Amino acid sequence: MKERFCELAKVCGADIIGFASSGRFEKDSPIFRLMPDAKTVIGLAFRVLRGAYRGIEEGSTYYQYSTMGVTNMEETVMPAALLRLSMFIEENGATALPQRRHQQIMAEDDSTNPEISYDAIYRGKVNETQLDFVDTAVKCGLGEKSFHGTLLTDEFGPMVRLCFIITDMEFDETPVYKPHLCDNCGKCRSACHGNAISDEGKVDVWKCSVYYKGANGTKNPFMPPDAFAELEDRIDIIAGEAEMSPEKARKIIDSTHFYPPVGHMYQSSICGRACDVACYIHLEEKGVLTKKFKTPFRKREEWKFDIESFK
Ligand code: SF4
Ligand code: SF4
Repeated sequence: MKERFCELAKVCGADIIGFASSGRFEKDSPIFRLMPDAKTVIGLAFRVLRGAYRGIEEGSTYYQYSTMGVTNMEETVMPAALLRLSMFIEENGATALPQRRHQQIMAEDDSTNPEISYDAIYRGKVNETQLDFVDTAVKCGLGEKSFHGTLLTDEFGPMVRLCFIITDMEFDETPVYKPHLCDNCGKCRSACHGNAISDEGKVDVWKCSVYYKGANGTKNPFMPPDAFAELEDRIDIIAGEAEMSPEKARKIIDSTHFYPPVGHMYQSSICGRACDVACYIHLEEKGVLTKKFKTPFRKREEWKFDIESFK
């Protein structure tokens, strides 16, 4: 059964498949609220195409990462795979509860999701249980948690997206990773366009939302020289050095109209997940990723506009 499931998962586009018995989860884990008789959580990691990051690396095409790397993965590829795989489990007599990330629901009142327009998020109003995706992926043996909180995999480093199936079918477990990829080099932190990652690796999600959308003019080819003219510390903002409160973040986001969104409430990413790209390049240079390419991802020195051109 496990072999047939994994074969089908590969056909559906999943790249890494892991199984955690319910015994790996604490008694108050959301999985038992979702399915009290859960026996297994199946984790599925889908690679984000390395080529989807290419345009932002070169500063030439920004649409492809946000459409092919985020929106289509979350709204088309992964839900279709989850449905097909869940049907396979149910054809074999067990119940399957697919878990894709609901990008617009958030339990916390003061948080946000950089990938979604902040005013499209329902905070605290919808009492719906959601898994901690990275923690669940670690329990399923898909990878390890990185310094800045993403999942790192042996095959693709941080370039993956995640979904899960909770089921009352029993499967043999996948071993949990012994962390060996993240070496705390801090390159993710220094690559962030807005200093959104603290010394301890915590991501300030409001700052991240501002710079994910492109507030750093030195890394945004669409920003006009007079951007953010109404904001007092516009040069600090454009340089990625501004202090940030949620109120200020909302104001900056509302003034950031240099590139169109991609639909389904998703923001276009101008930073192109520079934190993850830096991590990927680091792991690739160390030779620890098992998925090899003929040429390195970074082919020339990183480009940057002069902050003086905004003064
Ligand atoms: S760049 Fe990658 S390996 Fe380095 S600290 Fe960040 S997550 Fe860890
Ligand atoms: S590089 Fe982009 S995605 Fe990563 S923390 Fe910074 S703003 Fe957020």
